[in-house]
Amino acid sequence: FNVPPAKNEPVVDYSPGTPEREALQKKYKELYNGHIEVPMYIGSEEVKTGDTHELTPPHDHKHVIGKYHRGNKEHVQKAVDSALAAKSKWERMSWEHRVSIFLKAADLISGPYRAEMNAATMLAQSKNAYQSEIDAVAEIIDFLRFNADYMTQLYREQPYSPKDTWNRMEFRPLEGFVFAITPFNFTAIAGNLPSAPAMAGNTVVWKPADSQIYSAQLVMRIFKEAGLPDGVINLIYVDGPDAGDVVFDHEDFAGLHFTGSTKVFKHLWKTIGSNIDKYKSYPRIVGETGGKDFIVAHPSAETQTQAIATAIIRGAFEFQGQKCSAASRCYFPSNFWPQLKDELLNDMKTLKIGAPDDFSNFINAVIDRPAFDKISGYIDKAKESKDAEIIAGGNYDDSKGYFIEPTVILTTDPHFVTMEEEIFGPVVTIYVYDEKEKWSDVLKMVDETSPYALTGAVFSQDRYAIQEATEALTHSAGNFYINDKPTGSVVGQQPFGGARGSGTNDKAGAKLNMLRWMSARSIKENF
Ligand code: GLU
Repeated sequence: FNVPPAKNEPVVDYSPGTPEREALQKKYKELYNGHIEVPMYIGSEEVKTGDTHELTPPHDHKHVIGKYHRGNKEHVQKAVDSALAAKSKWERMSWEHRVSIFLKAADLISGPYRAEMNAATMLAQSKNAYQSEIDAVAEIIDFLRFNADYMTQLYREQPYSPKDTWNRMEFRPLEGFVFAITPFNFTAIAGNLPSAPAMAGNTVVWKPADSQIYSAQLVMRIFKEAGLPDGVINLIYVDGPDAGDVVFDHEDFAGLHFTGSTKVFKHLWKTIGSNIDKYKSYPRIVGETGGKDFIVAHPSAETQTQAIATAIIRGAFEFQGQKCSAASRCYFPSNFWPQLKDELLNDMKTLKIGAPDDFSNFINAVIDRPAFDKISGYIDKAKESKDAEIIAGGNYDDSKGYFIEPTVILTTDPHFVTMEEEIFGPVVTIYVYDEKEKWSDVLKMVDETSPYALTGAVFSQDRYAIQEATEALTHSAGNFYINDKPTGSVVGQQPFGGARGSGTNDKAGAKLNMLRWMSARSIKENF
């Protein structure tokens, strides 16, 4: 058995008149008019508790597309028991056979489930077809195929054996179960966080964000259809504290694979720390958390204003800015700001807002009421401040869906609240610095403004200025872009993750990440 070398999944463009577009539109309508009932998946059971909650699209929040069954502590306990029961057979299965299941899941997504994965994400997370294609089709497939490829590479790396000795490394899974917590914003992350530890032979308890349940259950059904044995991944919908009370109290808790907020991650870390004496092993803690991602331009970038305007629009507003990596604070020099401003505001006039079933809408709705309130609250702060001015957007309307106009704030204070705090919405703040300011001082300001270090971008035509920025911002961004937007990392091309308040920097979609789910044994045998 040979795992084929991974290549990135080609992205379908859904041009008008293509069969792919027709199939997607049909599937979207079918899901929109359907009414699914979503169980939890624990071991061999599809669990329906009767405690049902409605599923509604963010862009049409009075319209019900289904309901899901919510569980409690008892179900968390069952999920842990089921993961532990499935473990011995799963970890003894050859790794090639384990990954073949996930490669089959990738093929199912690439083929028969492509339209459904895309439509489910358009509908439940309010993404347009192109963004859903990148997330729920291409990126999840890439995670599955590249991680399988990394397994091949890792297992091949064996130590040197002198004469009469056989040295070898066994990459065993962790001893215990892994807990995966996934966020609403990427279906691809929902696929990756439970599957990466599972490929390495671990069994998993998986809790998605409530606003992701609709697409998470589809990922789970595809894993099952691809042949995933019962109990290897157990999908539960429960309150965070209910899950935490059971999972972090268990002696076999072996690892956490998390994407979500910095606040929650720190809380979980503290809980794990205070329970450390209960565990058989030190748990692996892997987390990708917040971001306050920057674009900084050098005065030499004056010929790049169009590229910078595009980087702001795509970096800050794609996915409604609901990306940890979204560009949200910008530093531009005074020499070309007037020109950049004109181009940016002109380009923004073309951005259409509305539901994703109209493929020409660039901006859809933000995920839910709390997100809408939080983001609009930041816009209000800018409206009320003497240090800030809204130069584009600024309106919001939640009557049908949670719609927020893409908004540009211009501030005279580099420490204005929207330059420092994570907003997770379509809002970007710009600070214009004096072109005569020293580049090193500008970079120092970029580095020191935020406790996060996820992504960042520099624009410049001056090679020395690029070099200086790359050095000065070493610890400011785990993903650093030169003359490009700070978003859109591609699996296998730009392994993704940040440090400081942004996470443990174990890079999603990388060998580094796969190694976190393995506990290696060195064996020496004399002959
Ligand atoms: N990998 C995505 C990007 O580079 C962001 C993922 C996230 O928001 O967590 O844009």
